[in-house]
Amino acid sequence: MTKLTFLGTGGGRLVTLTQERSTGGIYLEDARRIHIDPGPGSLSALKRNHIDPTWTDAIMISHCHPDHYTDAEILIEGMSVGRRGRRGTLIAPLSVIRGKGSIGPAISRYHKEKLRSVRTLGPGNTLRVGPLEITGTPSTHGDPTGIGFKITTSNGTISYVSDTELSDAVIQPHIGSRILILPVTRPLRSRIPGHLSTEDASFFAEKVRPEICLLNHLGRRMLRSDPEMQARWIEEHSGVRTIAAKDDMALRFDHEGIVFL
Ligand SMILES: [Zn+2]
Repeated sequence: MTKLTFLGTGGGRLVTLTQERSTGGIYLEDARRIHIDPGPGSLSALKRNHIDPTWTDAIMISHCHPDHYTDAEILIEGMSVGRRGRRGTLIAPLSVIRGKGSIGPAISRYHKEKLRSVRTLGPGNTLRVGPLEITGTPSTHGDPTGIGFKITTSNGTISYVSDTELSDAVIQPHIGSRILILPVTRPLRSRIPGHLSTEDASFFAEKVRPEICLLNHLGRRMLRSDPEMQARWIEEHSGVRTIAAKDDMALRFDHEGIVFL
């Protein structure tokens, strides 16, 4: 079984500041344990969900915005608790690891030196965390080096699309994924540059045709516009089962199907 836990489903500056939804990212458990985009609230969300951060094998950060990385340094320290020597893997774009122009880096040299492996990932590149295969996918967003992730688990492929606007280049690599996680910052009729709206998510889901589409990174306007209704709109227009994720929502999946816990 592979398990996904939504440690946070909020996104954008206002929701991050108020924590009306947590911004703790997503936790993947398979042959390895991976924390994706540990923004503010990660630590309390881990505690709420009874996940021990000292067991994490890798941290993946999609881009250098605080709602995606702020808790990463303490979680890197967590990966080495009780063990001698370096431990853990960090996978992130150039901006997060070394800095790019005025953006980043997000991780201090002290913390990078605690890790066994620091891997810079760009779109189209693939690397492994144990048996899991991680491919960087393109995104068009404020961080020019930002990426999404396509993760091949023992039970099929998960697409974690990070903040981006819609384009064919962004959609294409995710075709074939079983589970499509989309950052839908904006509801119907309120598209802004650099982000996905409800209409964009519907188009995306229709092209990828996953078994399920999960909406996260919900911005304030999205939260004020009934995320469940937005999810229904996407499902009706794309024909893809769609759910607006909630904080602490967890699901397990294997080759038989997907089960919400
Ligand atoms: Zn962002």
